[in-house]
Amino acid sequence: MGLGRYFNSHTEFGKFNSACATLGTVAATIIYFKMSGGSKKVDAEGAGAPPFPLIKSTHSLVAKHVTPEKWSKLGGLATKTSGFTLSQAIACAVEFDDQHCGIYAGDEDSYKVFADVFDPLIMEYHGLPEGFKHTSDMDHTKIVGNIDAAAPVHSTRIRVGRSIEGFGLSPGITRDQRLGVEKLMGSAFAKLEGDLSGKYFPLLGMLEADRQQLVDDHFLFVSGDKNLIAAGMERDWPEGRGIFHNADKSFLVWVNEEDQLRIISMNKGGDVKGVFSKLARGIQAVGDSVMAESGRKFMLDERLGYLHSCPTNLGTGMRASVHVDLPGWTKEGVDKLKARCEELNVQPRGTRGESGGQTGCTYDISNKHRLGYSEVQLVQTMIDGVNTLYAEDVALQKKQAEA
Ligand code: ADP
Ligand code: MG
Repeated sequence: MGLGRYFNSHTEFGKFNSACATLGTVAATIIYFKMSGGSKKVDAEGAGAPPFPLIKSTHSLVAKHVTPEKWSKLGGLATKTSGFTLSQAIACAVEFDDQHCGIYAGDEDSYKVFADVFDPLIMEYHGLPEGFKHTSDMDHTKIVGNIDAAAPVHSTRIRVGRSIEGFGLSPGITRDQRLGVEKLMGSAFAKLEGDLSGKYFPLLGMLEADRQQLVDDHFLFVSGDKNLIAAGMERDWPEGRGIFHNADKSFLVWVNEEDQLRIISMNKGGDVKGVFSKLARGIQAVGDSVMAESGRKFMLDERLGYLHSCPTNLGTGMRASVHVDLPGWTKEGVDKLKARCEELNVQPRGTRGESGGQTGCTYDISNKHRLGYSEVQLVQTMIDGVNTLYAEDVALQKKQAEA
């Protein structure tokens, strides 16, 4: 592979050359990280960072924030918990040309060791002001109203991501750490009581028919997402992954998919308030159980909230959604629906998950933001947004029938 492969343009090659001149600083940085125990040097024989990568997603936040200067400082470092590097973190932006963000964290340390890249990128992505700090609020009694009872809502689902201190995040997690999370969760799940109690089903050894049924019923994740693969999240698949659920599958926890844990509350119909209140209870119970079993807390950063592998999920890590039929909007055009959703701070997806595609006129409508708002605010935004889209859909259907 020629050196040109690693550079976006001649200009960047020039920048890289000047960055090389600062290798003295790089060495000093590495020594600093070594002494402070924050990180170790990756490249045993090279002096500092590998060549500056060719970032195919030229319009991504990675392309903007991973400069040759930052690369020369950080490109040669690896984190302590999982030995994660900046090259691994930006793999998606390097490999694909369609990324908006294009970066993942491999462990809690990644957000600190590579803060020069992550911090400004997170601030820009989430549109946060200087000095911002995340606040959490799971009090369901503060939610005003609910989804209009007449709206054709099939089901409601709210999930959050959670990570346990001391283990790597999916892109960087070692095989031992992944198995450690699964083992710990096995005993933590066994302590859940009442309507939250259930059983853990590892993916390894699961009958194909059972797995497919869980996927078809919208309960289970699937493998094959190109971003997750490129980011290293499908290493050793399916070992260490699985799903816990209670008897009626209204409370579920995914283990070791994009996040160590995805805690999910879902139900038929549009009772968002009820689903949210159960989620709050479930998160608390899982957190208490993990603490009782291991003495470990969920990773929580004072500024960034709950830590996730994807910086877009930082903060609440919450996606509250309904599957709702919007025949009027479908006829009007999906691009118009997308634009309207943007104004309402919600996001439309297909019913088969983020990478699974759309079916008929049913959409997954969820809150667009994760950080910068409390959970209560985000659920409220989703409820209000869906009610607005529904009212507009009725009007569109009427207009279309008259035309
Ligand atoms: P996540 O944000 O949890 O990663 P995905 O878009 O990957 O969400 O979807 C995961 C699964 O959850 C998919 O099978 C999807 O159909 C299902 N799902 C999402 N929202 C709902 C909902 N409101 N009702 C039923 N299933 C849902
Ligand atoms: Mg997903």
